[in-house]
Amino acid sequence: MKRLPCTIASIEYYNHDTRKVMISLPRNEAVDFKAGQYLEMVLPGKNCPFSIASSPDVKDYLELHIRPTPDSEDSAIIEDMLNHSDRTVEIDFPKGDCFLESAPDTPLILLAASTGVTQMKSIIEYLLPRGLTHPIYLYWGVLADKDLYLSARFEAIMAQEEKFHYIPVVSEPATSPEWEGRIGLVGEVALQDFEDLSDVTVYVSGSPGMVYATLDTYVARGLPDNRMFSDVFSYAPRPAP
Ligand SMILES: Cc1cc2nc3c(=O)[nH]c(=O)nc-3n(C[C@H](O)[C@H](O)[C@H](O)COP(=O)(O)OP(=O)(O)OC[C@H]3O[C@@H](n4cnc5c(N)ncnc54)[C@H](O)[C@@H]3O)c2cc1C
Repeated sequence: MKRLPCTIASIEYYNHDTRKVMISLPRNEAVDFKAGQYLEMVLPGKNCPFSIASSPDVKDYLELHIRPTPDSEDSAIIEDMLNHSDRTVEIDFPKGDCFLESAPDTPLILLAASTGVTQMKSIIEYLLPRGLTHPIYLYWGVLADKDLYLSARFEAIMAQEEKFHYIPVVSEPATSPEWEGRIGLVGEVALQDFEDLSDVTVYVSGSPGMVYATLDTYVARGLPDNRMFSDVFSYAPRPAP
């Protein structure tokens, strides 16, 4: 892990609130990380983690997707920096032990809540060019359909790669009157599609509450507990009973 002074190469809005932020590393620093890892932006007195959305194969920049968190002081500092900064930022990079270096020898279920999809995007874009022998199922859970800012990207992949399946899920249908897709909590919706979890691998990105609820339900349905992976297991370990 290194602390690096970086440049913000570009910022653009994906939708009403989520921004794509491209970070350039200093000259002579290699873009060297594993698919699924994150970086931390260094703020005064605190670091803020952001998953890397690009594949490790992309060597020119690191792609982040940043969404403001209501009532969060840290998020307000980051938004202000993105709005007004001189476009430099310090990062600690790479971080995280929830990554993939090769496709597992089982079907892969990726469960993402909100911007947790960034971690999955990196994993998918890294695995696809290496060829899939087992299917990948991406379930992306959001509150409202307007939050599905990467749907066109995933639908395009699905049209080209028969082993890739994209299932968007909206949890608050009242916010999305035209939504005709799946409704519910992302982990529960995915569970409806699999009879047998004894031979799958699951990656989950979301809040600690969502991840541990998913772990308990999936293990109760036959998932070996060493086949679920999440950053939460490191940064918010479950207290011993
Ligand atoms: C490992 C990790 C990766 C993150 N990646 C992103 C990202 O790609 N884009 C983004 O906008 N925000 C991301 N966040 C959240 C972001 O760091 C916070 O919103 C930011 O630090 C502002 O602080 P806060 O007070 O809102 O959150 P804090 O109180 O510091 O809490 C961070 C919360 O982020 C949530 N979280 C975990 N993973 C993700 C994720 N991939 N996306 C969103 N929330 C997540 C967890 O529920 C955790 O409780 C990530 C957080 C973590 C822990």
